[in-house]
Amino acid sequence: MIPEPHGGRLVDRVASASVRERRDAERADLTTVRAEVDQLYDAEKIGIGAYSPLEGFMGPSELESVSRTGRLPGGLPWTIPILFPVRSNDGAADARAVGPGDEVGIVDRSDRLVALLAVEERFRLDRRGIARATYGTDDAQHPNVADLLAGGETAWSGKVTLLRRLDPPGGRPEPSPAETRAEFLRRGWKTVAAYQCRNPPHTAHEYIQRLTLEREEIDGLFIHPVVGRLKKGDYRPDVILDAYDALVRHYYPATRVLMRPLGIAMRYGGPKAALFLAIVRKNFGCGAYIVGRDQAGVGRFYEPYACHRIFDEYDLGILPLRYEESFFCRRCGWMASEKTCPHPPESRAQVSQTRIREALASGEKLPAEILRPEVAEVLGRPGVVLTS
Ligand SMILES: [Zn+2]
Repeated sequence: MIPEPHGGRLVDRVASASVRERRDAERADLTTVRAEVDQLYDAEKIGIGAYSPLEGFMGPSELESVSRTGRLPGGLPWTIPILFPVRSNDGAADARAVGPGDEVGIVDRSDRLVALLAVEERFRLDRRGIARATYGTDDAQHPNVADLLAGGETAWSGKVTLLRRLDPPGGRPEPSPAETRAEFLRRGWKTVAAYQCRNPPHTAHEYIQRLTLEREEIDGLFIHPVVGRLKKGDYRPDVILDAYDALVRHYYPATRVLMRPLGIAMRYGGPKAALFLAIVRKNFGCGAYIVGRDQAGVGRFYEPYACHRIFDEYDLGILPLRYEESFFCRRCGWMASEKTCPHPPESRAQVSQTRIREALASGEKLPAEILRPEVAEVLGRPGVVLTS
């Protein structure tokens, strides 16, 4: 079944065209703050209901509840704080003076007015405490911890009104939860499995997707790559999407698979991030959620299967589909996992994004057991990885 949104109601805080025009016209009267890309994405996701039931950025009581229990104050599961940190010099000379009851305009780097924030509280962030509670560490080697520590130490909470969508990631339209729900209905899909990813697909990913499509309770697969803020060494978002397009077009039945981007900052919070990413997909209408090994992990910060176990601790009302690490076994001549293959590790073709990147960079041709040639063609184009 297509699940109810998290908390029962899909949040819609997108302003009408007439409100947007009026607020644009009155802009000179508005205190504005230039937001980081991550917060712009969050404001947009709040506005379109992807973070339902959140209607705005969290205040101290929500933050405390999420940090301590992994739940919102009402008891609903929620594991990642959604905050709006500000520095005293964030683009507005009077940002220092902003307080409860004020309305602030959130602008992007091109100075476009993206959203309004009705400030409810202004509070200090214990950034190290938040890092430890959310990511289990305050080690700045962790990318999200580094961002948190480098960001503002004050935050504003309050409801968000979205005035306009951001530029679509990778140049592809990014649907709202209402749009994907309508699309699933149109296709006659009842139970849709969401596939979280942030890299182009190799055959180990494809194997898990195929196992999912073989399950009798699954009507469709929604591939939903996270393409948010980019850092050096990442694939460009359009490349990730082109690579998935190549896989879907050449190897999947068009009636059973849909791929669309999701513009959010990737939280590498291991189990807590996996749960959060599942909640977001529930809002997009997915009644099942695929969890691979070490989902949303980074470095060696998380035990690889902690992301499976957290789905036993919280009931999201959707079906977690947990898969172990898969690989191509030369002895089996097939994709396999520890559950199906008795052969020693030497018989496995090891696949990693690093290995694929190195091979493509040196012009080495990877076997189809590792990478589909149509995907390799996309990844072999010049300039696919960001160099600055
Ligand atoms: Zn084997």
